Amino acid sequence: MPPRIVDVLVPVALDQAYSYRVPDGLGLEPGDVVSVPLGAREYTGVVWGEGNPRPGLHNRLKDVDGKLDVPPLKSELRGFVDWLSNYTLTSRGTVLRMTLRMGEHLGPGRERVGVRKAGPAPARMTAARARVMRLFGDGLVRLKGEAAHDAGVSPGVIDGLIDEGTLETVVLPPEPVAKPPDPDFRKPDFSLGQLAAADALRTTVAQGGFTTTLLDGVTGSGKTEVYFEAVAEAIRRKRQSLILMPEIALTGQFLDRFAQRFGTRPAEWHSQVSPRKRARTWSAVAANEVQVVVGARSALFLPYADLGLIVVDEEHDQAYKQEDGAHYHARDMAVVRGTMAKIPVVLASATPSVESVVNARRGRYRHLHLPERFGGQYLPSVEAIDLRREGPMRGRFIAPRLAEAVKVALERKEQALLFLNRRGFAPLTLCRSCGHRLQCPNCDSWLVDHRFKRRLVCHLCGFSTPPPQECPKCHAAESFVAVGPGVERLEQEAAELFPDSRILVLSSDLVESVERLRAELDDVAQGRFDIVIGTQLVAKGHHFPKLNLVGIVDADLGLGNGDPRASERTFQLLHQVVGRAGRSEGFGQGFLQTHQPDHPVMKALISGNREAFYDSEIELRERTHYPPFGRLAALVVSAGERHAAESYGRGLARIAPHDEQVRVLGPAEAPIAVMRGRHRFRLLVKSPRNYDLSAYVRDWLAAAPKAKGTLQVEVDIDPQSFF
Ligand code: ADP
Ligand code: ZN
Repeated sequence: MPPRIVDVLVPVALDQAYSYRVPDGLGLEPGDVVSVPLGAREYTGVVWGEGNPRPGLHNRLKDVDGKLDVPPLKSELRGFVDWLSNYTLTSRGTVLRMTLRMGEHLGPGRERVGVRKAGPAPARMTAARARVMRLFGDGLVRLKGEAAHDAGVSPGVIDGLIDEGTLETVVLPPEPVAKPPDPDFRKPDFSLGQLAAADALRTTVAQGGFTTTLLDGVTGSGKTEVYFEAVAEAIRRKRQSLILMPEIALTGQFLDRFAQRFGTRPAEWHSQVSPRKRARTWSAVAANEVQVVVGARSALFLPYADLGLIVVDEEHDQAYKQEDGAHYHARDMAVVRGTMAKIPVVLASATPSVESVVNARRGRYRHLHLPERFGGQYLPSVEAIDLRREGPMRGRFIAPRLAEAVKVALERKEQALLFLNRRGFAPLTLCRSCGHRLQCPNCDSWLVDHRFKRRLVCHLCGFSTPPPQECPKCHAAESFVAVGPGVERLEQEAAELFPDSRILVLSSDLVESVERLRAELDDVAQGRFDIVIGTQLVAKGHHFPKLNLVGIVDADLGLGNGDPRASERTFQLLHQVVGRAGRSEGFGQGFLQTHQPDHPVMKALISGNREAFYDSEIELRERTHYPPFGRLAALVVSAGERHAAESYGRGLARIAPHDEQVRVLGPAEAPIAVMRGRHRFRLLVKSPRNYDLSAYVRDWLAAAPKAKGTLQVEVDIDPQSFF
């Protein structure tokens, strides 16, 4: 009998699975995780299916080297990999890599050594030894390090007692990744509105099956408490839950809230988790030893043994879109995964995406609404400061009216948040003598002055350089001026205006570690700062009880850059930021410094009429056939040479398959024309809503000449950004 052959998918940028011989005696099933040779290397891959035995083939095949001792990837997850690869035009191997992101550490967890009392007291007694003996008098097993710490002795003292036979070592099983959460640990007293939503979610989970629910509640309405009831129901039914969060770094508060509700913290999954911990979490999730995972978008690719619920918190957040490697949107893929697993999906937001609002209005999603803040707090009142009439003096960025409001807040011992979505000191540095602008050598962008770090930095490629002594063009000395504000410059101004206040700048480039950031956010929540100056890092999810005033320093910043989603994004971001105010007691107040107080976004924020904003935005999208009323795909052609990128882009446009329903626009030079030394051109493809745009682009690219040299074509189905 010829040997059995299996097809193994390997986590490298290849679409196809490779065939391998199965050595005698090795039982393999689809989904098994195996190690196989490929080229000169050994890879961890996954059996994707039976191979095709063809005459003579098996002689040329290599053997599977072995099977790893982990549960197989279920067909549900393999189907998800195939689907996502097909939809996003990403090679299957690349997508598989996202499911195997547990590093080289896969395998059983590290064993730990415990110590307990075994024999009589030692012949030679010392004070240190006596303390250890007292500690172990209770007969319990302790970790060696912990015992040394608790007895206040060095580990050597414990070792000595082990050598003498007074203590003995015992091997302990690895620490569990997460303790089982208790669904009834502490149930909150819900308001009537919350109760109705919580009941609806509980029923949805109890009934099972695929549904999508939009949990749409104003900031501070208690969405988290409400969807925790769905999680509790899944735990009672012994099924796993996934809670996706946009910026996992910001969830210190969230993990504590989870622990208050369920008695223990959930398992975490994000890039800051150590490789070893990740490997153990991966195995524990596959073995059904973890009930709830809280994670960043990559947690979608974990091998859940029995996933019963997915919650996507802050579902509108653009951090859910991955923009390199596989271009996928984690919210949309959560819904896909929910369909495949036949389980409920809950999307939560105070400012849902236009897509989700349309789906809810059309009845494709269930809609749960929480229109009020919990505890009777009012939503903040918002007013505009018209920078054309009452702006600050030249070189200043805080208008007198906002400064006055901050002063009043400080007198009341409340906090103020000044929001400016711009890192660094100033976005542009200019030579006063010749007008020369300091620019990135690799990108079509200015260098941003980061004074805290004493560097000029490119925000596109990360290039950085110390500030030059003289102008590189006219050689004038000390001729540079900073143009425009960043958070660091705002701090300078705030320190001058409010000399006695304690000011904290929060910006992603100043974050040294997740722990540090969590500690700083906690300091703010505890009232250890008076003024917080922050970028979008502070926009999301935080609960700062003493914060009642939010000033948006440049409300126009995200508008008018030609991005079709600019209005939606600006509305969401500013609404979220203003929503940090007035959550606990007193009255929240928001100020928008703007040059366009009549812009629909500003008007919606000021009037608090959210639906009016959605109405006008939806009407616009429908008229222009933009998503969700039509579909888009973007192709970005880039190359080291401008001409190469442009002519390849032109060639692509020429050979685009003809289809009445599809329009191909471009190539046009990208808004960021040069990035990381690559010249960029964009093509935009538009189709009706129910059209298979992935298939269209696939056929198109299959007929295109091979991209040679430095040429690269990036495909982005359902693009979110247009730079
Ligand atoms: P959202 O996510 O909608 O902005 P949160 O879930 O963060 O709102 O809730 C806002 C605050 O109100 C939190 O501090 C939360 O603990 C509290 N809260 C909400 N609902 C309740 C409740 N039923 N009982 C007690 N506290 C609640
Ligand atoms: Zn650059």
